[in-house]
This record gives sequence, C-alpha cells and structure tokens, in this order.
Amino acid sequence: MDVASSRSAAGAEPATGGAPTLRVRGLSYAYGKTRALDDVALEVRPGRVTALLGPNGAGKTTLFSLITGLFDSRQGDIEIAGHALRKARSRALASLGIVFQAQTLDLDLSVEQNLRYFAGLRGLPGRAARLRIAALLAEIGLADKAKAKVRALSGGQRRRVEVARALLDRPALLLLDEPSTGLDIATRRWLVEHIHHLARGHGIAVLMATHLTDEVMPEDDLVVLHGGRIVATGRVEAVVRENAAASLDEAFTRLTSAKPEAAS
Ligand code: ATP
Repeated sequence: MDVASSRSAAGAEPATGGAPTLRVRGLSYAYGKTRALDDVALEVRPGRVTALLGPNGAGKTTLFSLITGLFDSRQGDIEIAGHALRKARSRALASLGIVFQAQTLDLDLSVEQNLRYFAGLRGLPGRAARLRIAALLAEIGLADKAKAKVRALSGGQRRRVEVARALLDRPALLLLDEPSTGLDIATRRWLVEHIHHLARGHGIAVLMATHLTDEVMPEDDLVVLHGGRIVATGRVEAVVRENAAASLDEAFTRLTSAKPEAAS
C-alpha cells in the first residue's frame, strides 16, 4: 500500500509544483556569546533529499531545534509548507515529521503502543490510526514486531519505528538528525536508501543532517555547514566540481578543514 502519498484531511497538504516545502532565510542563533548559526539560508523541495552535511559542532542540531520550534530566534525566517513559523506556528509544525538524534521511544511499550500514543497526540482517530500504523509497519518491514516491546528491538529496528512515527501524520517535511548514529553499516545503508525512497516515491521533502559523506547520494541537494555558516550549496556533482575535488569526501575535507571564523 502506498502509505505516504495519499495525504488525508488529517495530514498537512503537500507543497506542489516544486515550490520549496522548507524555506530558511537569514537565520542566526547564539548560545550566550557562542554564535552557533550565522545568516543561514536554505530550501528543501518536495520529493528531494537535502543533505545537511557538517562536522561535529557545525550547528546542525541547533538548526533543527529552530525549525522544530524548540528554540526561537528573532534573526531570520523559517517557513514550512507555506506557513511562517513565527506567525502560524501550529500550521507550520503540523506539516513536520522529525526523527531526533537521540532515541525517543518508550522502551517498555510495544511498537504499536508507541505509535498509537503518538497518533493520539497528533489527533488521528482510532481506526485511521490503526490502519495507518499497520501500513507503515508493513512498509518498514516490521509488521511482525507490532506487539514486541521496543526494548526487545535492535537499534536499527528502533530507528525504523521512529521513522514510521515521524510519517504517521503524513508530513510534507521530514527532518532527520543524524539518523544512522550507532547503526551498523548494512542497517545504515538500508535506512539511507529507504529515506531516499520515501522522498522520491511519496513526494516528501527531506532534510537529513549527517557528518558522513557516504550517506549523501549523487542526486541529492547538498548544504554544507561549517562553524554555523553555509560554505557550499547545490547538487553534489556541482559542489565537487567547484572545489576542484575528485570526490565529495575530498570537497568536504577542503570546505571544512579551515578553522571556522570566530563567531562570538
Ligand atoms: P554534532 O554533529 O556534534 O551533533 P552539530 O552540528 O549538531 O554537532 P550543534 O550541536 O548545533 O552542532 O552545536 C553548534 C555550536 O553550538 C557548537 O559550537 C556547540 O558547542 C554550541 N552549542 C550547542 N549547544 C549548546 C548549548 N546548549 N550551550 C552552549 N553552546 C552550545
């Protein structure tokens, strides 16, 4: 079953015609005197994966905290599915699904209970939630684990459940903060491929933070963040070419080897 493409009244309307689902402009943020983001601008389009690539401390998690409304900044604008976060917060956030860096499932509940609890929070009615959960679990290959306690699942299986949870409400925008942290290579590969499949097949705009160049696919849009500033954007191939590099790995090393400019 095509679980993500038919957006119902319960979900957010998808952005259409290639207009960006996420628009960030002039965004800055500081922790006290430490400037974590400096004049960041980016766009994420439906059906595409935008890889937010940056070394540790680049500002990826801070950017996600701002997009999800956990933090607030007076400097800059964030628009999700056409809704300005500052002016229409509920509508903007209704279009968002997120997989956090840290594991956030209740270990003592079953897979299904975790998902049903979240569906309740998002206002999905019981029968619709049951059907949606069954379809999503089938899609991520965990239909047989519905009744299993999350504690009994592997790290990769738990991550898949978190992806399913983020998709419950048919988001127009999916944010993933270093989703492969702690997973083995085969599971990482499966997860990254599945995320691309979701974007392509279901028209979801995906912003995926990572510090691993091998998680970026050649067709992805790329945003390289270093020291809170965007140091490159564009198609992977163009970024490699513009940096006179033989690979993304080499381009990334070049772009991020200089000490970030003091941002305090
Ligand atoms: P990682 O890949 O390690 O998760 P990141 O790219 O997500 O890193 P952030 O966690 O957003 O980067 O951090 C950006 C900058 O802000 C870093 O210099 C970090 O030390 C600083 N920072 C992050 N959180 C806080 C905080 N709560 N208080 C003070 N400084 C912080």
